[in-house]
Amino acid sequence: FVSVENLCFSYKKTPVIDQLSLDISKGEIIAILGSSGSGKSTVLRLLSGLEAPSKGSISVNEQTFFDDRHFLPPEKRNIGMVFQDYALFPHMTIQKNIEFGLGSWSKKQSRNRSKEMLSLVRMEDYKNRYPHELSGGQQQRIALARALAPAPSLLLLDEPFSSLDADLQITIRNELHDILKQTETTTVFVTHDREDAKAVADRIVTMRDGAAHDWDSLCTSPQSEEQKQNHFQTV
Ligand code: ATP
Ligand code: MG
Repeated sequence: FVSVENLCFSYKKTPVIDQLSLDISKGEIIAILGSSGSGKSTVLRLLSGLEAPSKGSISVNEQTFFDDRHFLPPEKRNIGMVFQDYALFPHMTIQKNIEFGLGSWSKKQSRNRSKEMLSLVRMEDYKNRYPHELSGGQQQRIALARALAPAPSLLLLDEPFSSLDADLQITIRNELHDILKQTETTTVFVTHDREDAKAVADRIVTMRDGAAHDWDSLCTSPQSEEQKQNHFQTV
């Protein structure tokens, strides 16, 4: 369903992603586990189209997002994202926040969809509040509801629990698994926390230190067998 092949990427002269390959089946939740600076967020930026790889290919649901000839812009990728600082729109109510991404839907459809999403994250009673009137965990649930509302073909979660306290983190990560399974959402979940990864994901992949030392040779010359080894290892 998601196919990433031999992706390379560098920020200016700093190589970050080196020959990255990864396949994800439909409805599968994978966690990318890795230390700070290993390139986890960069992978999400490449999947969402916020950055363009220097080499390789990305396709989702038989649609080419990136290869030698194509770059599909982010707004055409039907991807949902939740970041660690959930970034709800502060001047909009919860309901309006969720409906925001449903621009092309009729008013009635988008109202129904936001109701459905609020019930999914068990926040029905909060629809007329503003983000600052919610706790961190509640805001995180709304960010998830907003990302899921347009039924994205791929959901990207970047350390969504990092600002929550330990108890809440455990509650939310268990809920998250159930919500993603219920909605059959194909998900890439980035974290540095092994327990988070285990609780949420069907499969965990770890990232080695993203900065390959002789990246130039790896990304510009034909691959050796050794170089073909995945950047990711399945745990
Ligand atoms: P963390 O767990 O701390 O969020 P990460 O695994 O998400 O880390 P990335 O944010 O993907 O790591 O960064 C990977 C590498 O790329 C790091 O060495 C970082 O310094 C570098 N980097 C990230 N963004 C930029 C940028 N805009 N310009 C230059 N270098 C960058
Ligand atoms: Mg990051």
